[in-house]
Amino acid sequence: MTDVTEIEHCYIGRAGCGCVVAVAVDATYDLGAMVRTAECVAEFIRDGLTIERIPAETFRAKGFPFGHKCGKGRHDR
Ligand SMILES: [Zn+2]
Repeated sequence: MTDVTEIEHCYIGRAGCGCVVAVAVDATYDLGAMVRTAECVAEFIRDGLTIERIPAETFRAKGFPFGHKCGKGRHDR
């Protein structure tokens, strides 16, 4: 079981338009989870996203803009 309170940071992927379209938790508590995080981030980079590491609290905050807010489709990169 993952204790979510241990998640302090996450990586977000920002598309060229500036919208945050991807997120991966920065999991430091579990080696398997860290590998998955690295794979996710590698995929974001392949998709051409800009990676930023932000506090998980910021991402969880109400109203954090996730997904395209610029009019593009939800799953567009
Ligand atoms: Zn956008």
